[in-house]
Amino acid sequence: MKYDCIIIGGGAAGLAAAVFLGQAAVRQGVRRSVLLLEKGPRVGKKLLATGNGTCNLTNIHAAGVHYHGASALAEKALKALTPQASMAFFEQIGVDCRVRPDGKVYPYSEQAGAVLDALRLEAEALGTDIRCDHKVDSLRPTRDGWQVTVDTQTLTARQVLVAVGGAAAPSLGGSADGYRLLTDLGCKKAPLFPSIVQLRTATDYVRAVKGIRVDAGVTLRLDGRPVAQAEGEVLFTEYGLSGPAVMGISRPAADWERQKKGTLTAHLDLLPEWTQEQVEARLHQRSGLAGRTLEDLFTGLLHKRVGQTVLRVAEVLPLTRPADSLSAKECRQAAMVVKNWALPVTGTQGFGGAQVTAGGIAGDEVEAATMALRRHPGLYVAGEVLDVDGDCGGFNLQFAWSSAYMAASSIAGNW
Ligand SMILES: Cc1cc2nc3c(=O)[nH]c(=O)nc-3n(C[C@H](O)[C@H](O)[C@H](O)COP(=O)(O)OP(=O)(O)OC[C@H]3O[C@@H](n4cnc5c(N)ncnc54)[C@H](O)[C@@H]3O)c2cc1C
Repeated sequence: MKYDCIIIGGGAAGLAAAVFLGQAAVRQGVRRSVLLLEKGPRVGKKLLATGNGTCNLTNIHAAGVHYHGASALAEKALKALTPQASMAFFEQIGVDCRVRPDGKVYPYSEQAGAVLDALRLEAEALGTDIRCDHKVDSLRPTRDGWQVTVDTQTLTARQVLVAVGGAAAPSLGGSADGYRLLTDLGCKKAPLFPSIVQLRTATDYVRAVKGIRVDAGVTLRLDGRPVAQAEGEVLFTEYGLSGPAVMGISRPAADWERQKKGTLTAHLDLLPEWTQEQVEARLHQRSGLAGRTLEDLFTGLLHKRVGQTVLRVAEVLPLTRPADSLSAKECRQAAMVVKNWALPVTGTQGFGGAQVTAGGIAGDEVEAATMALRRHPGLYVAGEVLDVDGDCGGFNLQFAWSSAYMAASSIAGNW
C-alpha cells in the first residue's frame, strides 16, 4: 500500500501534524491514509516531561526575537500558526489553556499528559495509523514519492514529514537519527550544541550549598563582557548551577563550550533588589546583634549555609569569631560577594541534561513558506531537527506546533 503521507516521529511536531492533516482531509471532504512511525514503545515521551510534567505549551510573546539559528523559519511559521491560534487549536481538541502573567501558557490541569492524550486521541480519531517500536533507518526518493525503511520492512508514501526531534535528552527519545536521515540525502546541517542546559562551574564552594535554591540574579560574562543575564531561581548542584534562571541563559555557555575561546564566568547576585551599599550597611548592623558568631551573620537574610559560604568566598574567617569582630573592610568584602559571586564556568551538562538542541538541518535547505526541503520534492521537515531553537518558556513547543502546521498545510495542499 502506498500511503498519502508518512510522518516519522511521534513527538510534539509529529502528533500535531497528524491532527492538522486529519483536519485538512475532513475540511476537503476526502479520505487520506496517514501513517505515523515512532521508534519508542509509546508516542510523546518527551512531551510528557515538558514543564516538569506540566507542559508549558506556548508563550503569548512568541516572536522571532526568542528564536536562534534559522530564526527566519520560526518567524514565518509563527505567522501561519500564532500562539493564540495554537491555544484555540488545543481548546478545540480538549485542552483548556491558562496564560500566566509572564506569558507562559499551560493546560488548566497543568498535566503534560492531557496535551499528549488530546493529540494522540484526536490523531487516532481522525484515522492516523500510529505504529510504535518502528524506528526509521533510511529514506529514499522514488519516481512518485518516498521509500521509508524500518528494519527489513519497506513502506512507501507520496509525501513524507520528518519530525524526529533533536539530540537533546536521549533518555526521552532524543537522538541524532534525524540529522543522519537528512544528511544522507545531502542536506547540510549547522553544528549541534545543547541549549537550556545546566552549567558546570568550579565546585570548591558550590558543593557546600548543593541542593539549595535561591532567587538570584545571574550574569554570564565572556572575558568580562556580559553575554546573558536573568533573574529567578538558581539551584546549586554537585557540578555547578541549575534552575530556570541558569538554564534560561545557558545557550551562550554551550556555544562557548564547543569553541572554548576566552574565559566564561557566571556572576551571582544573591540579593538583586539591594545595592552593595545597602548590604554592607545591613551586615554592619547585624554584626551588632548580641551573642552571634559569623556563622549566623546572614541567618534570616540568606539561607544559613549560603551565608556561611559567602563568608568563606570573601575570606572572612574563621566563622567561629564573634560577629562584633567584623571590620568595615570585611563587611565590604562580604557584601561584594553577595552582589557579585563569580564562578568560573567549565562547561555544560551536555545533551544529556539539555532541553533542546541548538543547530540542526540548515534553514536554507527548507522552503520557509512550506517546510518542504528545497532539493527533495515531497519531503518536509518540522520541529527541533531543524536549525531553530527557542528560549526557555514555551517557545520550543510553539515552534513544533507552528512548523508542523505549515508542513501539514503544504502536504494537504498537494493531495
Ligand atoms: C525535560 C524537558 C522539558 C521541556 N519542557 C519544555 C516546555 O515546557 N516548553 C517547551 O516549549 N519546550 C520544552 N522542551 C522542549 C520540547 O520538548 C521540544 O523542543 C519538542 O518536544 C520538540 O518537538 P519535536 O516533535 O521536534 O521532537 P520530539 O518531541 O523529541 O519528538 C521526536 C520523536 O521522534 C522519535 N524518533 C526519533 N528518531 C526516530 C526514528 N529514527 N524513527 C522513528 N521515530 C523517531 C522520538 O522517539 C520522538 O518521540 C522540553 C524538553 C525537555 C527535554
